[in-house]
Amino acid sequence: MVVLDCGTKLTVLERTVPQQFIFDCPECDTVVTVGTEIRTEILEHGCVLCETAVSADAFSQPEKHQRR
Ligand SMILES: [Zn+2]
Repeated sequence: MVVLDCGTKLTVLERTVPQQFIFDCPECDTVVTVGTEIRTEILEHGCVLCETAVSADAFSQPEKHQRR
């Protein structure tokens, strides 16, 4: 854990907490909760089910901004 300065404290916090993301596929309506690694995988390779390329937009963070 590295705290660079006050301005980046929030970012550091996000990275150190084992973050979960809700992946909501715009194509096949799959909704799964994934960790950071899987999120990266999906961003690189597309949806795990339909392989549609998705952007970070398809992910939401349950503890932060709830988008619906
Ligand atoms: Zn999909």
